[in-house]
Amino acid sequence: MSTAFPKAAKVALGMPQLRSNLAHATGTIRGKRAKVVGELDDWERLRDTAAAIKADVQHRMPELAVAFERNATAAGATVHWARDGAEANRIAARITRDAGAEEVVKVKSMATQEIELNEHFAAEGLSAWETDLAELIVQLADDRPSHILVPAIHYNRTEIRDIFRGRMADAPKGLTDDPAALAEAARLHLRRRFLSAKVAVSGANFAVAETGSLVVVESEGNGRMCLTMPETLISIVGVEKLLPRYEDLEVFMQLLPRSSTGERMNPYTSVWTGATEGDGPKDVHIILLDNGRTEVLADEVGRQALSCIRCSACLNVCPVYERTGGHAYGHVYPGPIGAILAPQLEPGRHDDLPYASSLCGACYEVCPVKIDIPEVLVHLRQQGPHGAGEKAAMGAAEAVMARPALWRAALAAARFLSRPWRGRGFVRRLPWPASKWTVSRDMPVPPKESFRDWWKERER
Ligand code: SF4
Repeated sequence: MSTAFPKAAKVALGMPQLRSNLAHATGTIRGKRAKVVGELDDWERLRDTAAAIKADVQHRMPELAVAFERNATAAGATVHWARDGAEANRIAARITRDAGAEEVVKVKSMATQEIELNEHFAAEGLSAWETDLAELIVQLADDRPSHILVPAIHYNRTEIRDIFRGRMADAPKGLTDDPAALAEAARLHLRRRFLSAKVAVSGANFAVAETGSLVVVESEGNGRMCLTMPETLISIVGVEKLLPRYEDLEVFMQLLPRSSTGERMNPYTSVWTGATEGDGPKDVHIILLDNGRTEVLADEVGRQALSCIRCSACLNVCPVYERTGGHAYGHVYPGPIGAILAPQLEPGRHDDLPYASSLCGACYEVCPVKIDIPEVLVHLRQQGPHGAGEKAAMGAAEAVMARPALWRAALAAARFLSRPWRGRGFVRRLPWPASKWTVSRDMPVPPKESFRDWWKERER
């Protein structure tokens, strides 16, 4: 079993600045989300509807993907199919070269991070420039994103100023850490890139099968620049992003901004359908990406993860994420959604991630598409290397707890055996196999007297 997460989490826990940045940022977004969600009386109905639409997509994915291809092609786009990341990267690099370009500007996209498009382009002698402010910060710092929506959440503004000063060639002299000054420096830097780019690469939040349209939801306007200015547009879209009907957007456009940035409405929503003469890119390519998704679809419990709309609300409420940050997860998708998606997209790797959770259920409570993340976590744990042992232990616990006499005897035995630790409050290390439990937890010492005994005594 991989032990990457526990090791990386231990390192992250020793970084007070990181924890302080994370606590501040996630706390702020949590508060904003709660406020705008509380304004809607039909929030639960919206969640139910979104979950039903996504379940329908999962049942009809091949049919919807073919309908999307047909309608996007009829509107002038070229649709490509990619089995995996390598194939998607090859197609994107070929289109870029065919367009006579050596560099692309990028809209923030989780799918392109998942397939490591930037790294592939660099290996091919091409450059991919991030244009989302936080992605730009991460790229300049030669770092990795640590949050789905706020990739530079682990930096504070002074650290960002230092990155700009050190790595951005055209950063103004005497740049301060004033947020407006930092944003202006990035804006001027990016404007030059937008004006010279021939090719843009994007992902998409939604792909509407009925019309062949793609939708990108963003806050900064950099996406709109990428989607309209270059002559060639390449959109790499996971097949799970399909929606059957255009009107389904009505549901998701209420859920997504509120759950992600805590806004009633996001500033920029771009919708495009194929290519339109005299309006935006002339050459529009859409790469429909599988990269393990059809295998996930085959798992009746695990497939819920494909409903994710990448809002990141589950990250912001997760007590584990808030303390470790995103890098500890070792995957492009961190937090609760990463803990269920990463092990399924890359079977045999990341099998420690389903344990990166206290199963408190906060992620399920906030998820706008009602993914039962704790259910999938438990399901994945049972399939992992410790699954059989854990199942046997839970079966034994169930058998004891279901028989009052046996349960009382077990508690009496636990009280007797824990006598040497009485007074210390906690048992820090138990012998094998119980040591597997205490390696990362302290076990409270059973009290001298059970509640039932105490009650009996009181009733006398
Ligand atoms: S699992 Fe739900 S809460 Fe988490 S990012 Fe996906 S849609 Fe948002």
